[in-house]
Amino acid sequence: MTKRIAVLTSGGDAPGMNAAVRAVVRTAIWNGAEIFAVYEGYTGLIEGGNYIKRFKWDNVGGILHKGGTVIGSARCLEFKERPGRLTAAENLVQNGIDALVVCGGDGSLTGANILRTEWSGLLHELAENGRITWEQRVAHEKLTIAGLAGSIDNDLCGTDMTIGADTALHRIVDAIDAISSTAASHQRAFVVEVMGRRCGYLALMSAIASGADWALIPESPPNLDDWEAKMCDVLRQGRERGRRDSIVVVAEGAQDRHGQPITSDYVRRVLEERLGEDTRVTILGHVQRGGSPTVFDRNLSTLTGAEAVQAILDPTNDGEAFLVGITANRITRIPLEQALNDTKCVYDAINSQQYNEAMNLRGGSFNQAFRILRTLVRAAPHKRDPSKKQMRFALLNAGAPAPGMNTAVRATVRLGVDKGHRIFAINHGFKGLLKGDIEEFDWMSANGWVAEGGTEIGTNRYKPTTADLYQIARNLEQHNIDGLLVIGGWSGYEAALTLYNHRKEFRAFNIPITCMPTSIDNDLPGSELSIGTDTALNNIVEALDKIRQSAGASNRAFVVEVMGRTCGYLALMSALASGAERVYLPEEGVTLDDLQADVAMLKHSFRIGKRLGLMVRNECATEVYDTNFMVRLFEEEGGDLFDVRQAILGHLQQGGTPSPFDRIQASRQALRCVEFLEEQAGKKRPKSACVGLINSAAKFTHFKEMEDEMDWDFDRPKEQWWLTLRPIAWMLAQPAPDVEIADATINK
Ligand code: ADP
Repeated sequence: MTKRIAVLTSGGDAPGMNAAVRAVVRTAIWNGAEIFAVYEGYTGLIEGGNYIKRFKWDNVGGILHKGGTVIGSARCLEFKERPGRLTAAENLVQNGIDALVVCGGDGSLTGANILRTEWSGLLHELAENGRITWEQRVAHEKLTIAGLAGSIDNDLCGTDMTIGADTALHRIVDAIDAISSTAASHQRAFVVEVMGRRCGYLALMSAIASGADWALIPESPPNLDDWEAKMCDVLRQGRERGRRDSIVVVAEGAQDRHGQPITSDYVRRVLEERLGEDTRVTILGHVQRGGSPTVFDRNLSTLTGAEAVQAILDPTNDGEAFLVGITANRITRIPLEQALNDTKCVYDAINSQQYNEAMNLRGGSFNQAFRILRTLVRAAPHKRDPSKKQMRFALLNAGAPAPGMNTAVRATVRLGVDKGHRIFAINHGFKGLLKGDIEEFDWMSANGWVAEGGTEIGTNRYKPTTADLYQIARNLEQHNIDGLLVIGGWSGYEAALTLYNHRKEFRAFNIPITCMPTSIDNDLPGSELSIGTDTALNNIVEALDKIRQSAGASNRAFVVEVMGRTCGYLALMSALASGAERVYLPEEGVTLDDLQADVAMLKHSFRIGKRLGLMVRNECATEVYDTNFMVRLFEEEGGDLFDVRQAILGHLQQGGTPSPFDRIQASRQALRCVEFLEEQAGKKRPKSACVGLINSAAKFTHFKEMEDEMDWDFDRPKEQWWLTLRPIAWMLAQPAPDVEIADATINK
């Protein structure tokens, strides 16, 4: 019997839910299952009838980029009671469905889990009352559940990120960026209230990413009774030292040590009364929930949606319930009950004012982020400990500009100075180092750089030659540099390796050198993600959404060329996030057979009623069949069916303000780099290493290993984790396999 699966979205809507529904529907069909969409969450399950609708491949076309959920969501009180769930079970069985994918928050997933545990009893009762037959009861003995964490708050345990949280963070950080500029103009204070009743993720991360001056979160209330005095002190000192704006971010669930709510209005009054500041409150409200999902949310939803169906169809699955989420940058399944219990433990800890416990349960990276924030918000560094040796560290940017470079410089300066060291900025990359263009930075030197795209200290792809090394060594010696941080891309890494490999000839190079992966191309060794890549991807996908819209108006295919040099990451991930029909990667190359197959695919798609085609190609996918050639080929072969245009996105991909993720990464990696330099500096044989995110954890790869990981023929890492996502991107982009040409509207 063909497996029948239903999908529903429930509770508070979250951007990315549509992408999840699309992936669930298409993966189910691709694997031979029948798929039903339930409209309006659990309400639809109880109403039955037209609320439960069989979906085909094309029912989920054109929804990937949309905010909210096109199949509707609701809060349904009836489902909380057994009679409601009895009717829901009846409707499922009458439709032959015994597997459910639920995308929602902890409430919705708790409801799904209760339905599953009661299932057998509910069906027995239905059969006894004649509402279903005994055969139906036997045929649907168990209910299988796959939960997808749909919640903007990032408040569910069992997944590092929930669907919608990244988008909400974008909305918040955009808003705070805008507020900062007006606040600075009038030297005003602003209190910004963000969502998060029982989770401070959005408040904490947005405060780091926007360079806010104070943040209040539910898990870790200020640990002084007169915390107001401390907050005002920091803000006052900040003003005295030249900060023009004061921004306090308050999570809606913020509370003090005694469990009393701290409201945004209370914070406003405190600032007005104690500082005499003109203070405004902005409650961001539902803006945080709305709008088109970010690339991260689209891809998280797509990958977890596809995995949810795989979990249901897994022959070893015997009526279990999983939460499908992301842990350490990999899609994972964990028992739903465990995820819900762990989530409840955090809430219980907050409610019972066990704040240390709540913070412990949030995990190491949340705690580290909180510590970073507490340093970055300071108006001035801690007093230096005179017993600790003061080091002199230099930093530079190298390679192509990448959003996040300024954020990384700012964080390194502050975190380094706070640890009692002196930080020197080298202007214009290794060229500047050769010229001796070096200046000391203090706490305020990079003030306001957190949100700036590009790089204030300048960058280029210059790599020192052997003849340059003597002068570079002298310049380092002249400034007594104890450690060097290279914030940049491939050419920066190469240059750092050159110094390292000549450390025996030049004593000045016998210092720790560390590289922070900062490049939009995501082509660096020792890290699964580079700083800047997330911003570039969002830039690309924003452009692709617009191109898609314009193409759809006039039966058109587009060949869009994106950056990435010899690494196809930007191309693949942007294709996945935009629902492109084809993607061309340098890792795979392009053959004439591929192009012939693509012509056939395009003709077939347009014949069965598609109105547009989106082909994304990496700039180095093939040297022979360039973008122009592809366009001409498709145009010629498309005849009257469709016409073809090209778009080369170019440098818009490198520009713009860095995304919240890139800003947060830059700040986190900065701390790791400073700690590394501090640990290695002064040693007889200091180590040099690049920092990076591997399985979501910050790791160092020593230069020797790093060199081995680099594919020198192609300027990219030898192993690229993301290539495993290729098959899903391919599957989802197929023309509808459940539409026969004969049934379809033939265009021409
Ligand atoms: P979220 O899923 O975003 O946390 P809610 O907590 O409002 O949102 O839950 C959404 C819906 O899930 C509820 O309206 C209800 O239908 C169902 N639900 C929530 N909690 C339960 C529960 N304990 N038992 C059964 N159903 C529940």
